[in-house]
Amino acid sequence: MKHKIKIVMRRWLARVLHATGLRAAFRGSRQGIPVLMFHCVGSPASTDYLPGHMKISEGKLRKLLALLARSGYSTRTVSDVLADLEGEALPADRVALTFDDGYRDNHDVLLPILQEQGATATIYVQTGPMKGRLNWLHHYFWVLHAQGPHALAELLAQQLGKEHQRADLRSLPPDPTAAEYEMKRFLKYEVTPEDRDRVLARIFSDLGGDDAELARAVYLGPDECRALDKAGVELGAHTVNHLILSSLDATRQRLEIEGSLRDLESWLGHGVQTFAYPYGRTWDFNEATLQILAELGFRGALTAMPGLNDRGTPRFELRRLAVNEDSDLADVMCEVDGVFAWFARRGLNLAV
Ligand SMILES: [Zn+2]
Repeated sequence: MKHKIKIVMRRWLARVLHATGLRAAFRGSRQGIPVLMFHCVGSPASTDYLPGHMKISEGKLRKLLALLARSGYSTRTVSDVLADLEGEALPADRVALTFDDGYRDNHDVLLPILQEQGATATIYVQTGPMKGRLNWLHHYFWVLHAQGPHALAELLAQQLGKEHQRADLRSLPPDPTAAEYEMKRFLKYEVTPEDRDRVLARIFSDLGGDDAELARAVYLGPDECRALDKAGVELGAHTVNHLILSSLDATRQRLEIEGSLRDLESWLGHGVQTFAYPYGRTWDFNEATLQILAELGFRGALTAMPGLNDRGTPRFELRRLAVNEDSDLADVMCEVDGVFAWFARRGLNLAV
């Protein structure tokens, strides 16, 4: 089916089933537990530079939590979901909320909302920034926010050695969105990771950026992790430096995974059970990753691949539904109720 027709059909179906309350009728035959994926919550100025698809406002999150509660759902941690998947029958009233990377607003903004609504969540913590180290994407988003795509492309062109790289960067499309898309593609594929990281780190610091200061403003610290843990929020590991694991050899993968596990153990005084893959697509990890996770005693791991989780879902390839400020809540609720999975089982695939 044409992509555009699919989008229109899906939106129409979600609106009708949500407005009439008919979506609830699908829950009885739901074959899986939904895990929702978020990043930042609210709009603290410290995260202004991060892109919109990583954010949800307080108001929208409250609205979603209220809808879930009104529909009879209760929130569970990912460890709880893993236990549910071992049980006799899958409970139809469960949903898990997950928040990736470990942003400070998860403590300052999210925690009070969870407490007020009697909800829980699992937060996947990248531990490097808590020790003052940021990855290239933060440098990239920060300088992009400060300069705009074309000025940043010029700064990159001045620092990169190869003639064809300079030519690529100086011929970006005039439209800012298209230019930004092209530049990100360029940084991922047309330049070595070492050059990219080095050049972006230099531009970031030339423009007055400071790793330790930005990391402190944007990420949780050990104290906030402990407070979340004490409040019944589950913490999970998300590597030290947020690299694409499949691009690393097994030794470096182990350093990344075990490093974040040990950091969390020392901050919390106990181990953590689950892991989320940075970037989360199935090609962002490999066999070596799965072996390391099993050896370290993790019980399961989350991808960012869409879908519900049933008994047959591999425990180290759990699926999630991404939600952000632009998400249509009728659509999210239909996913949670298993509406689109029900249609897919009958041959109507409305995944977009
Ligand atoms: Zn992440």
